[in-house]
Amino acid sequence: MTGINETHDPKLRSFVDSANAPDTDFPIHNLPFGVFRTAKMDVPRVGIAIGDRILDVAGLSALSGPAQTAAKACAAPHLNDLMAAGPDAWSALRLQVSRLLRSDSKDRAAAEKHLVAMADAELLLPAKIGNFTDFFASVFHATNAGRMFRPDNPLLPNYKYVPVAYHSRASSIRVSGTTVRRPRGQIKLPNEAVPIFAPCRNLDYELELGFYVGVPSDLGQPVPIDQAGEHIFGFCLLNDWSARDIQAWEYQPLGPFLAKNFATTVSPWVVTAEALAPYRTTAYARPQGDPAPLPYLASDADQAGGGLDIMMEAYLLTDAMRTQKQAPFRLSRGSFASTYWTVAQMLTHHTSNGCNLEIGDLVASGTVSGPDKDSLGSLLELTLRGTEPVQLPGGETRGFIADGDEIIFRGSCEAKGFARIGFGECRAVVLPAI
Ligand code: MN
Repeated sequence: MTGINETHDPKLRSFVDSANAPDTDFPIHNLPFGVFRTAKMDVPRVGIAIGDRILDVAGLSALSGPAQTAAKACAAPHLNDLMAAGPDAWSALRLQVSRLLRSDSKDRAAAEKHLVAMADAELLLPAKIGNFTDFFASVFHATNAGRMFRPDNPLLPNYKYVPVAYHSRASSIRVSGTTVRRPRGQIKLPNEAVPIFAPCRNLDYELELGFYVGVPSDLGQPVPIDQAGEHIFGFCLLNDWSARDIQAWEYQPLGPFLAKNFATTVSPWVVTAEALAPYRTTAYARPQGDPAPLPYLASDADQAGGGLDIMMEAYLLTDAMRTQKQAPFRLSRGSFASTYWTVAQMLTHHTSNGCNLEIGDLVASGTVSGPDKDSLGSLLELTLRGTEPVQLPGGETRGFIADGDEIIFRGSCEAKGFARIGFGECRAVVLPAI
């Protein structure tokens, strides 16, 4: 398997006990990056999650070479400087931090001084994001959603050729834990001649995987598919909040606008491409009769290892459930490996016209829905546009999101012969419209 090295060894243990728990998202094999602040810090810095702790990387003195360069870049209140240090520096830092945090670490005492409790830290938006593009990579989502807007013509003829996307809004991206205000907008009710301007009635989430560009590309220079992976720093969970009633009225002919750009929530921890190496799998197998990807999107290596087996889950916690101290209710569960387009195909297609990518750009997959009823990544699909509401254990029902509801995403990876790693959570409570 490519990209596997000693940092993925399942036998590794950390002197941080909580990192050895079988259900932790952050064992020593993961080492995701984020930006954090504690009450004692004047400025936020980059940290690495390990169990229930955060390693404050910038102050570490036990590092050397490119790892030390990378660690210095972690003094910034965003990941962009670390991204700019380049893949060799990211990898060198990962290796030296892995050795530093192991149970047989030679520098345990030095490392312990730089560990803070995650419970005492505020986690911030991890990057300065200049551009945000959202794809539509699940053929199951495209077909399900298309059927509701165009019953006789669910999947448009371009879908199996073009990795479809829209340019969304970077300014309204917020980190997990930030509340989301229900938007108001133009809504055209079915039996009315003219639209109204009112609070969204059909508020939805979209369960998505996001990735950050770490290595930029030049304007006018397409990125070949076999080099696409080299541009990706890491991955996060992402909620592309969607106002379905506003979307239905505004989306033709130029696509989503105000139905989407009022808020996007991302998870605070960025799981590196290197950490995900053991969970790479074959790309989604196109059914017989589907066209082969055009040559610029076709690669044997990408077909063999361009899929990512990330189990993605969406949960709902209503106000009433929170009051009664109930656990969040799982709405769906499905693997990212079922998406029609790989992340390399998305990145390559994005640059195929010469469009340049910048450090910190965020690209998302689109709603991750699988073929099964319990793997649908939006309420639009789960409830057939609200007509078959979800029944919650306490007796409540939901067609779409109600005020006070919290949507929670979780993601994790498992592979035979490797440790389990996770993404942490991506969550946000919806507030009433103003
Ligand atoms: Mn989306």
